[in-house]
Amino acid sequence: MIALTDRWALRPLELFALDEGLKLAVCPENGRWLALDETALRLAASLDGQRTVQEVVDSWAGTVTREQVTDLLSLLLQQGLLVQGRDSAAPVTAGCAAGSPGLGVLNLTRQCNLACTYCYASACQPAAGQHGADHMALETALAIVEQMLALNRPHHKRTTILFHGGEPLLNFDVMAAVVAHYAGQDARDLRFEVQTNATLLTSEHAEWIRANHISVGVSIDGDEQTNDIHRRTRAGLGSFERIVAGISLLRAYGVRVGAIVVLTRDNYREMDALFALFRRLGVRAVSLNPVFYGGRGANNALRLELTGEQLFEAYRAFTQLTLAHNASVATAEQRIEERQTKYLTRNILVGEPSYMCLRTPCGAGRDTVAFDVNGDVYACDVFVPQAQHRLGNIHEQPLATLLAQASGAAARSLSDVPECAVCTWRVMCQGICPAHRATAANATVPHAECDFRRRMIPYLIRLFIAQQGAQFLLDSGLEQVAAP
Ligand code: SF4
Ligand code: SF4
Repeated sequence: MIALTDRWALRPLELFALDEGLKLAVCPENGRWLALDETALRLAASLDGQRTVQEVVDSWAGTVTREQVTDLLSLLLQQGLLVQGRDSAAPVTAGCAAGSPGLGVLNLTRQCNLACTYCYASACQPAAGQHGADHMALETALAIVEQMLALNRPHHKRTTILFHGGEPLLNFDVMAAVVAHYAGQDARDLRFEVQTNATLLTSEHAEWIRANHISVGVSIDGDEQTNDIHRRTRAGLGSFERIVAGISLLRAYGVRVGAIVVLTRDNYREMDALFALFRRLGVRAVSLNPVFYGGRGANNALRLELTGEQLFEAYRAFTQLTLAHNASVATAEQRIEERQTKYLTRNILVGEPSYMCLRTPCGAGRDTVAFDVNGDVYACDVFVPQAQHRLGNIHEQPLATLLAQASGAAARSLSDVPECAVCTWRVMCQGICPAHRATAANATVPHAECDFRRRMIPYLIRLFIAQQGAQFLLDSGLEQVAAP
């Protein structure tokens, strides 16, 4: 509500040229923005916190009406671009309350039947009958789930257990025993997910997954030719046919499948083929991920990783395909969504960053916690098995005690990263994954993911200003497999 006796001041804004004489006005302090024409901008700039609204109206007499002034003020106020008098600035970081981590990532095995070039887990070869230290024991898995439930229940928070690896199906007996142990548990209290390469899936697995309402994420990088460049078996054979067979099997059993795509120089220009593949397979929740400098990925990343411009090219192409597809389907369930784009959209339009990897501090040790096969605890799966990030072991100390030490990587703050502290887009962006930043071999400024965000955020804002279907990038009712 605007009163003529109010004294309003415009927050500090940065301006960017748009089409048709409009300027994009962004407030770096609170991440709010508005498209304004030249007159509106000059009028807004005359709000200095000292003159009353009546005095501003009088100074513009003969040029704009009182209604036009108050309408603009209402819009600026609604967008959070005004402060009363000379008020203090908004905080740099959005922040979030520390809490019990709802997502536990259990690395059930260090073994994998594939040998993908970019594997950050450096998964090793399966050894028939010799699982030994490579597999998580049932006792360890149950101890983890019990402790997570004990942490989350008092907060009425659901625990999600994500079976990860290596290839978790190689330790299917333990996975099945954990799920059987909690059979009948209310899904609002505990649910399970599995991230798999899908190449070992059988009808029995698919039926078990369906019967236990388990969400599935599958890794796939493109059509056969593209996927098989990096996702190969240990004998050097392609995996595409078996991945597609696995996804098709799951779909035949009515299981909803999400997909994780690692973006490399070999697939970033293949978004048309990738999108067509997802449409054909009935995959609707997708995560496009950059190469991560861990394990084998660290050795190969320099050869594979994309520049910010190339990442942007891939995401922009996928976004355009998503918008066209989602505008053409009849129901929200038929929509396709890409996780980073969806949550970046939420940060830009809704504020209040919610996704753990697009928030500061991030979710490491707060929303998620990860476990190596022997029960070693890490604040996030991307830190497994780096000794310097090990918090302790679930068999030696209570999880609550270990999490209390998780402040290191999780406590990133935008103001700690010099280029983020002064960045126009900082509140919408929230910085990049601290593990990605710390381990990137080319940790120059700007980091490739930072360069990508500096391009992607204004691109999305321009889409929204042109009203090109922001709602088609937001909620589609899908729940993604929660792998970081
Ligand atoms: S990561 Fe880059 S774009 Fe994001 S806030 Fe930091 S400097 Fe800005
Ligand atoms: S993946 Fe990175 S940003 Fe996401 S929760 Fe883990 S450490 Fe934080």
